[in-house]
Amino acid sequence: MKIGIVGGGLGGLLTGALLSKNHEVVIFEKLPFLGGRFTNLEYEGFQLTTGALHMIPHGDDGYLAQLLRKAGANVKIINSNPDGTFLINGKEYLYRDLFSLLGFKDKIKAITMSAKLKLGNVDKNISFGEFLEDVELALKIGNAFTGWALSLTAYETPMSEIIEIAKNYYKFGGPGIPIGGCKAVIDKLLRIIKTNNGKIIKEYEVKKIEIDEKAYIDDYEFDVVVSNISPIETQKICNIKFLKSKPKPSKGIKISIATKEGIIKHGGVLFTPECERINGLNQVTNVDKSLAPEGWHLVMTHQAQITNNVKKEIDLGLEDIDRLFKGKDYRILHIQSYRESWPVNHASNGTDIDNIVNDKLFLVGDGCKGRGGIEVEGIAMGVLKVVNYIEH
Ligand code: FAD
Repeated sequence: MKIGIVGGGLGGLLTGALLSKNHEVVIFEKLPFLGGRFTNLEYEGFQLTTGALHMIPHGDDGYLAQLLRKAGANVKIINSNPDGTFLINGKEYLYRDLFSLLGFKDKIKAITMSAKLKLGNVDKNISFGEFLEDVELALKIGNAFTGWALSLTAYETPMSEIIEIAKNYYKFGGPGIPIGGCKAVIDKLLRIIKTNNGKIIKEYEVKKIEIDEKAYIDDYEFDVVVSNISPIETQKICNIKFLKSKPKPSKGIKISIATKEGIIKHGGVLFTPECERINGLNQVTNVDKSLAPEGWHLVMTHQAQITNNVKKEIDLGLEDIDRLFKGKDYRILHIQSYRESWPVNHASNGTDIDNIVNDKLFLVGDGCKGRGGIEVEGIAMGVLKVVNYIEH
């Protein structure tokens, strides 16, 4: 089969690596580099990124890791231990120790909530915020988690998604960091595509997708087209209109920091529920020293964008950083805001579009993640669905 792929982000490249084994694949990418929002951006020896925080949400056991192995991409992913800690009143707590901070009544409520979530015995039509709001600390923790992982507030996150996310978490565990960062994943996929004689055309912006007896990308003819650009952008350039609902993007701000001293002891996430804006931070150099120059740590903070005033959001983030790093050496390397055509996710969790439009047009990427799929795990779930459909 002749397969055309629009976009060389993680979604397009993962699909390309898997399908190029048995099919003729051509990938069109409008930018001069590949990997989209999941690759490294070198700055003064620090491996910053075009988007992601160098983290794979379910580490070496999740959907992405499984698909990378299936494609033959040998990426070393180090699982975080612990998954994360929570900074409360200047002290770091493991998730299980947070209960000790609650009064008797809140403890009972929190234990009940936790059991209900584990059993999936929850009203699916409410938001995560509504589920948590009876216990003040639980709501703060929930906001830090959804802000970090989904770039949403707890009130913007549907409970139905949290139930699926929890199932995935119990199945696969928490995050991991690929050695070499995001780019290591992209480079391995590119090598596979090249070995399988797949073709990649860079600096080519696709203007038209046409689905008829055959499938066309501009004037190139294919049997099927897989689009890795957002569902909305795909529909804009396509002759068929398939969107029944509009995915809602999630927006966020990432601040990359250089520090010699470091601020975190582990390779997981330090959630910051008491910050004004920052939801959490990681220190990827605890796992892979090569992501910063010798003697330095790379710390990345993430915050969901709450208002439309990006400057104010950044200022509030910087004030949080000032408080978090009080008395420590640090230097801001880069501030990036993610919205519009380069958001955190093209569809926030719960607003994703189905991957299969018809038997000639397929969608992959973070506008069409699988249910309960956090970020690249959701992309991998969607890619698997498309690859299975095309192959069988
Ligand atoms: P993209 O990476 O956007 O790829 C789409 C590609 O299509 C792009 O390269 C684009 O240039 C190209 N394109 C667009 N239009 C055209 C056209 N007309 N013709 C040709 N090419 C075109 N996820 C995680 O799992 N872990 C994290 O730690 C994490 N942290 C994040 C932190 C931030 C601040 C952000 C912004 C995102 C984060 N994510 C994280 C999310 C993750 O980075 C994205 O979900 C993922 O990279 C999206 O991949 P994609 O393939 O869907 O899209």
